[in-house]
Amino acid sequence: MDIQFTPEDLAFRDEVREFIASEHPKDLLGIRYRQHLKREDILAWHQILHQKGWIAPNWPVEYGGTGWTPMQRYIFSEECARAETVTILPFGLNMVGPVIYTFGSPEQKEHFLPKILSAEHWWCQGYSEPEAGSDLASLRTTAVLDGDEYVINGQKTWTTLAQFANWIFVLARTDPEAKPQAGISFFLVDMNTPGVSVRPIKLIDGSYEVNDTFFDNVRVPRENMIGEENQGWTYAKFLLGHERVGIAGVARSKTALGYVRDMAVHELIDGIPLAEEDGFSAKLAEVEIDLTALEFTELRALAAESQGHAPGAEASILKIRGTEIQQRITELAVEAVAHYGFPKEPSEDDTTALEVGPEYAIGAVDNYLQMRKTSIYGGSNEIQRNIIAKMVLGL
Ligand SMILES: Cc1cc2nc3c(=O)[nH]c(=O)nc-3n(C[C@H](O)[C@H](O)[C@H](O)COP(=O)(O)OP(=O)(O)OC[C@H]3O[C@@H](n4cnc5c(N)ncnc54)[C@H](O)[C@@H]3O)c2cc1C
Repeated sequence: MDIQFTPEDLAFRDEVREFIASEHPKDLLGIRYRQHLKREDILAWHQILHQKGWIAPNWPVEYGGTGWTPMQRYIFSEECARAETVTILPFGLNMVGPVIYTFGSPEQKEHFLPKILSAEHWWCQGYSEPEAGSDLASLRTTAVLDGDEYVINGQKTWTTLAQFANWIFVLARTDPEAKPQAGISFFLVDMNTPGVSVRPIKLIDGSYEVNDTFFDNVRVPRENMIGEENQGWTYAKFLLGHERVGIAGVARSKTALGYVRDMAVHELIDGIPLAEEDGFSAKLAEVEIDLTALEFTELRALAAESQGHAPGAEASILKIRGTEIQQRITELAVEAVAHYGFPKEPSEDDTTALEVGPEYAIGAVDNYLQMRKTSIYGGSNEIQRNIIAKMVLGL
């Protein structure tokens, strides 16, 4: 595909750049560690973009999308990454939103889509269970029809930011007799319904981002089921394709790599910048080449999507390479500043934080620990390789 910027693209880039500079809350620009953000911090940029009409670049225009070309979407995400805006959460906009406008009833579209756009509804993802992660189809949460309501019982786990959410999309078994994939349905559940409870799980870096979510006789109106009963697996897989494209995070990785490059310029070994040391500069160059290759792959996927092709197995390629590169960048950062010991970002609730070394060293270890998750969530990278083996290579 042709990826030259046209004059219109450049004008659009300037418009986005100016909008971010003038409208994004100043104190929230350049925050690299989302772990410490509050609910209202995460929502602030979302609401500003919503008012501007720019919150859903990937959606069809009729539901509130921007109508941008793939190149404009790419430019927009590049500019957000470059300025380090607050990350927009994917659960409503990139996950359940596309499921609702593709498979939902007219009433569901009318009710839920505007509330995703405005962030009145904060969605979380109720897929994984303690014994059902990679083997998601073995999930045991049940939904039993009782009159006009389904009664849901079971446990979900790793529910990201459920402590802030007011809605959760849930996969539950509606036919225990059918083969695993055939007996699952997809529900939209109000987190304020009696019987829903959330318990925090502490992560490796000490942050609180994920939860166990319990369903104890939770009654959900029948009209909150997506599509047909027992067809939930189809909708669930469609959603995962959308989830994986966003996970590649090319634009943010470029910014993160820029930080590592800066660190390497300032860090001296025997008076010579680390960036000029053969071994380290070769590693930086290698990541940069991999990232450029991934960027072109993502652009190809975007171009295909704009011609009406839903993300397919290529989403798995983006997920694997994107997350490998994200992790590699955090490893290089730790390699560059590890001699300061264990520099951690200070926070109100973390008394172990040590402010040692220069400012750019702080947070490198937090980020390294945080990013271990990326090769696990959204379907682990081993599972993505299985998908590629089956769907692309036909093995
Ligand atoms: C930080 C974080 C946030 C998350 N957020 C959410 C969320 O919001 N909502 C949600 O529903 N889920 C969420 N998840 C869950 C995530 O999707 C699962 O952790 C993931 O699917 C893996 O499942 P598991 O943890 O049960 O590991 P397992 O499935 O038990 O896998 C363990 C290991 O075995 C490997 N493995 C398993 N099966 C195979 C196979 N067939 N072939 C090769 N290797 C295999 C895996 O790759 C992995 O390395 C999150 C996870 C993390 C870590």
